Amino acid sequence: MSDAKPTVPVTQDVVTIARKLPEGGRVNLVGLTRDQLRDALIAAGTPEKQAKMRVGQVWQWIYHWGVRDFAAMTNLAKDYRAMLAEKFEIALPELVTRQVSADGTRKYLLRIAGGHEVETVYIPEENRGTLCISSQVGCTLTCSFCHTGTQKLVRNLTAAEIVGQVMLARDDLGEWPEQGAPKNETRLVSNIVLMGMGEPLYNFENVRDAMKVVMDGEGLTLSRRRITLSTSGVVPEIAKTAEEIGCLLAVSFHATTDEIRDRLVPINKRWNIETLLGALRDYPRLSNSERITFEYVMLKGVNDSDEDAKRLVKLIRGIPAKINLIPFNEWPGSPYQRSDWERIEAFADIIYKAGYASPIRTPRGEDIMAACGQLKSATERARKSRAEIAAEAGLPGASA
Ligand code: SAH
Ligand code: SF4
Repeated sequence: MSDAKPTVPVTQDVVTIARKLPEGGRVNLVGLTRDQLRDALIAAGTPEKQAKMRVGQVWQWIYHWGVRDFAAMTNLAKDYRAMLAEKFEIALPELVTRQVSADGTRKYLLRIAGGHEVETVYIPEENRGTLCISSQVGCTLTCSFCHTGTQKLVRNLTAAEIVGQVMLARDDLGEWPEQGAPKNETRLVSNIVLMGMGEPLYNFENVRDAMKVVMDGEGLTLSRRRITLSTSGVVPEIAKTAEEIGCLLAVSFHATTDEIRDRLVPINKRWNIETLLGALRDYPRLSNSERITFEYVMLKGVNDSDEDAKRLVKLIRGIPAKINLIPFNEWPGSPYQRSDWERIEAFADIIYKAGYASPIRTPRGEDIMAACGQLKSATERARKSRAEIAAEAGLPGASA
């Protein structure tokens, strides 16, 4: 079990970095799968016979070396490079600000086409570094404890914008060979979690294609076991995730009765606990992975009793699982409180004694609002009021 402490000193370092978006009109190569890249190069006049080799070369420049300028791709003929520069671009989201927490967590605010903003969080740990990436601007779902769910504006991120988050983090951390990153050391971005803004399974194709790029054996080369996709429970997409991505799965479980889960994770009204558990039972076999992470946010007096803990272990019996307890992270206007530390430990203990790992997730980057569920575009204006949030959660104070 974790010896996590829920406090982080409040200091921060805000850096504003201006990086212009490349001029439009050209096709962005970032985020294209190998097949899509091949099609794009052929459409631009690359002879089919050469296409495979050109894909390999361009891929290596972009994802292994981190090169953004076609002129630097020196193993390609000069006029081929000129053709590439005319028709294509290697474009990442615009980095607007970077905040560094007292605990080393970094939060990036990124601007994407249309002027939308999303956030990416880098969490350094002793033997690894986890990048928490976003899959949507906002979220169409309205989990009542989640800040992102209060954001009205929603759009899916493109595969380029998803892969771009990984590339931008590597830029900032100096992890490309071009930047002199040492070889054979623990990688700075060694793990990815799709736990930022948005519901990844409502943007399935783009998430899948982006992960194909990230998992490719050349370039970013993150193994599928170092990628965890977190879903609120979009049941029809769960088997597809196993078959077409094959990454690890986390599920935002959060409650042990349909009555409470309907209130916390409203998608439960569509696919209830029993239906969800059915899909989860098949996942390890379909994806050939060991176990599923059950995420469980600890909300004082709502879902944190001993009875909840006992029901939880009963429900998941037979599913290879680990239960990740997340102390609730507050945000302005949030209608819940974090469970007391003793309560969280007592809950963890029941689960642990039933034979499941029950780590308590250390809140990271709280001082820069980078912790789980706190992400939301700061400049986004269409905010829901406190009353609206309470009303949707079915809580008193809705008319306040
Ligand atoms: N949409 C996906 C992934 C993003 S949320 C999902 O819901 O699974 C990542 C995790 O943070 C989820 O388990 C989510 O339920 C949890 N979370 C959301 N708001 C939170 C908050 N305020 N405090 C703690 N965890 C929160
Ligand atoms: Fe969306 Fe996940 Fe937040 Fe629910 S918890 S509103 S699904 S981002």
